[in-house]
Amino acid sequence: MHQYSHFVDGKQSDLPLGKIVCVGRNYAAHARELNNPLPTSPVLFIKPSTALAAINSEIIVPTALGECHFETEMSLLIGKKLINCGEDEAARAIKGVGLSLDLTLRDIQQDLKDKGLPWEKAKAFDGACPSSAFVSRAQLGDLQNQQIRLYKNGQIQQDGNTSDMVNPVLSLLAYISQFFTLLPGDIVLTGTPSGVGPLQVGDKLVLELSDAIHCKGEVVSA
Ligand code: ZN
Repeated sequence: MHQYSHFVDGKQSDLPLGKIVCVGRNYAAHARELNNPLPTSPVLFIKPSTALAAINSEIIVPTALGECHFETEMSLLIGKKLINCGEDEAARAIKGVGLSLDLTLRDIQQDLKDKGLPWEKAKAFDGACPSSAFVSRAQLGDLQNQQIRLYKNGQIQQDGNTSDMVNPVLSLLAYISQFFTLLPGDIVLTGTPSGVGPLQVGDKLVLELSDAIHCKGEVVSA
């Protein structure tokens, strides 16, 4: 149902599908919009490879499970193993850059947060990480100056720049690799700018990363 494989520069990659490591509250304006304090160190969580789905024509959402929010995030395809790495090593391991939706079942997440319980049911369900094809690192300029835009039904909903990240990409990868070995084929999501909101069946989404990535899909029910 959620057929997905990694594509880089238009070609199917032989990298396996791995885990997806995500960071919460990596843009101050988004932390504020959800009334969350800014963390003193990165908030990390993981989605399994079964969360991956391709963004092409359809975005499948489990509408029976309550409100589902889009969070549009720059994503990094990892090409080399990283353990306790420094920033130079992290830079060499980035095989591709893309866009992903960190789909979040917000009602379920709020209930779990209120009870102090883990977020997996809200963030790690099947199809919870619709992702674009990647472009190679060389196709982009400064990773910390990329515009992330999401349009819903023709209206702009998210319009942020990666220069506003609390933890820039390379320090984030170095931090993650202190806890979780990153393997070739893993993906790292770098957090969402503000403007997140609910999805409804029939919504038409357009996602853009500067002028390097442009992809779209219509929300359908799981
Ligand atoms: Zn997110």
